[in-house]
Amino acid sequence: MGGRMNSIAMTNSPRVIFAIGALSHVADEIALLNKKRILLISDESASTHATRLLSELGALVVQSVTHVVMHVPDEFSAPIAEAARREQIDLVITIGGGSATGLGKIIALDCAIDLMAIPTTYAGSEMTSIWGRTSNNQKTTGRNVAVLPKTTIYDPELTLSLPYSISVNSGMNAIAHAVEALYAPEVNAEIKNAALEGITIFASGLRGISENINNLTARTELLRGSMLCGFSLNNATMGIHHKICHTLGGMFDLPHAPMHSAVLPWAVAYNQDFATTQLNEVAEVLSARSAAQGLWDLAKEVGAQTSLKEIGYPIEKSEEVSAVISSAKYVNPRPYNHDGIMELLRNANTGSRPDDES
Ligand code: NAD
Repeated sequence: MGGRMNSIAMTNSPRVIFAIGALSHVADEIALLNKKRILLISDESASTHATRLLSELGALVVQSVTHVVMHVPDEFSAPIAEAARREQIDLVITIGGGSATGLGKIIALDCAIDLMAIPTTYAGSEMTSIWGRTSNNQKTTGRNVAVLPKTTIYDPELTLSLPYSISVNSGMNAIAHAVEALYAPEVNAEIKNAALEGITIFASGLRGISENINNLTARTELLRGSMLCGFSLNNATMGIHHKICHTLGGMFDLPHAPMHSAVLPWAVAYNQDFATTQLNEVAEVLSARSAAQGLWDLAKEVGAQTSLKEIGYPIEKSEEVSAVISSAKYVNPRPYNHDGIMELLRNANTGSRPDDES
């Protein structure tokens, strides 16, 4: 049996079920949505959970996919969508990391059906209406409320197996969503509270698993943190940090979460004087002199990435990166400044600690 069930209501959010043991509520949630023909998508790491769901849901599951591919290439998703149409699927359920959720979103979009997400990492996609797909080797992303899951089920027990290095880097990636939401134009009290609480409990949860990776209390904090940071991402426009990471990811295929972890302290330092109030609040919840130092210290303490050089960034391409960023439109507290971006990239590359002047 699952633990006490918490259903949480937030604006622009799926219906959220959050509980230790919540996996046992899936059948009830399907009944609530009145769905009869299910496509179950799981990644390799979730095979045991998928087997359990298959046995619990019986004939309700008429199609299942047990392997996913990152960034949802069209040639991978198209045959699945075609089969889903043929089978008259009325609900996609995903269990796994952001790549499984991402595939579910594209099937939901292409087949005009509903999605239920059961995340097992801290990516946060299960709280957003952001989709991503790869066509002809080009990744595109967009926002469409049709891909926002109808229901998201969080069960901290499913994250116990997540390896330490993935946990800490994807934790810093999630914190980046909350930090940039705080200085986004749309920020309101609900987003601000979610973002600051998300950062606070992420910091605590990351320290908790650094002492004991099987600490279920820390794992629960981290998953709650991903929900709050994912909520922040969904309801706010991201700024220069995300623009830089999107550009670096696209140009050099750097690993997503470690790249976010390395860039974040220096993106925050870049914005410090233009979003002082918001970033001082981040510093406060991290008990640090500045947000930049607090984030860098947290990453260092828990062993998340602090250097772009270590993940293969070609520093000599910084002029090119800076030019791509300057040609794009984005919302950010501090306007684009070539020298500032070059310095930011230099610092994130070496992985030095932001000083008090930054
Ligand atoms: P992922 O889903 O690719 O998973 C990473 C690895 O961890 C995989 O090998 C997976 O099998 C394994 N794994 C997952 N859960 C596990 C568990 N509990 N125990 C052991 N192993 C486990 O990575 P991710 O970081 O979760 O997601 C990345 C993708 O999500 C990217 O494509 C990114 O662009 C996307 N994303 C989208 C949004 C959005 O709002 N649309 C938000 C964040 C990330």
